[in-house]
Amino acid sequence: MIAVLRQDATESQIESLCDWFQEKGLDVHISRGEYQTIIGLIGDTSRIDTDLLCGLSIVESATRVSEPYKSANRKFHPRDTVVKISDTVRIGGGHFAMIAGPCSVESEEQIVTVAKAVRQGGAAVLRGGAFKPRTSPYDFQGLGADGIHMLIQAGKAAGMPIITEIMNASQLDLFEEVDIIQVGARNMQNFDLLRELGRCGKPILIKRGLSSTIKELLMSAEYVMAGGCSDVILCERGIRTFETYTRNTLDLSCVAVLRERTHLPVVVDPSHATGAARLVTPMARAAAAAGADGIMIEVHNDPSAALCDGAQALTPAQFASAAADVLAVRRALGMEKDGEN
Ligand code: PEP
Ligand code: MN
Repeated sequence: MIAVLRQDATESQIESLCDWFQEKGLDVHISRGEYQTIIGLIGDTSRIDTDLLCGLSIVESATRVSEPYKSANRKFHPRDTVVKISDTVRIGGGHFAMIAGPCSVESEEQIVTVAKAVRQGGAAVLRGGAFKPRTSPYDFQGLGADGIHMLIQAGKAAGMPIITEIMNASQLDLFEEVDIIQVGARNMQNFDLLRELGRCGKPILIKRGLSSTIKELLMSAEYVMAGGCSDVILCERGIRTFETYTRNTLDLSCVAVLRERTHLPVVVDPSHATGAARLVTPMARAAAAAGADGIMIEVHNDPSAALCDGAQALTPAQFASAAADVLAVRRALGMEKDGEN
């Protein structure tokens, strides 16, 4: 349920109303906008009489929220969430970031080389997998703890925050110096993991499951947010359809739908969506035009020798050109805030 308060509601009136909700066992989320304060209520609101609530002098309107996701719902929090990644990088609410790096960290030299190159090419965040969810147990599984260590070193060398995937909550200790924790498509509905990550105090990027609906993606965000984390980023990375000419089908309507439904930032990954390097740049441009808050692209110093996902990896030069195109699209559409990432 949401209660929209009248503009003249005083702090003490708001406080006593919140106390009353809490006495009824409800979780209270206050969203203060420039003109309006909204109170979002989570829990069993069946005992709250909407008419009674609307009759209070400080309440302008009260409505039940039918969607099962509450914290992630834009009705609860009309303004865009801005996720602060580091002192200089923010995602959401007009702040845009390019995220780039290899599918997997392969060696210190490789990740440091790619980090410096993508930084030069316009990336704000460095990616690199250390724990890889491979379809075959016989394929390269990532360098694990060593890989995370190398990624941290590369992030420092290039002066960039880092993102990497977690596969299991038991790995959390290794993620202390990781700036954004990625939940991969295959773990989008690992509810125990999501719950645990909600308590870890770091920004979480959740990738859309291979055959998950937008609502299911939002429910996964809700799991993380229910643990107390408000810094959740959603990532469209293509879904499985009958199409075979691309690795997955990039559902760009997801970006526009999420923009309506949620205040959380949305990132698009055209690499896993298409599976082919030549398709990444056109889809990155389209994602920017659709309103994505960030784009994540796989970049390898030598794609033909990559241990994982080489076919979809851009070279650093191709990445720089894609990033320039994305910036041009954003500028042409008046989306770019001058002087900010
Ligand atoms: C990745 O980003 O490296 C990855 C494994 O992606 P996804 O979970 O979307 O397949
Ligand atoms: Mn990959």
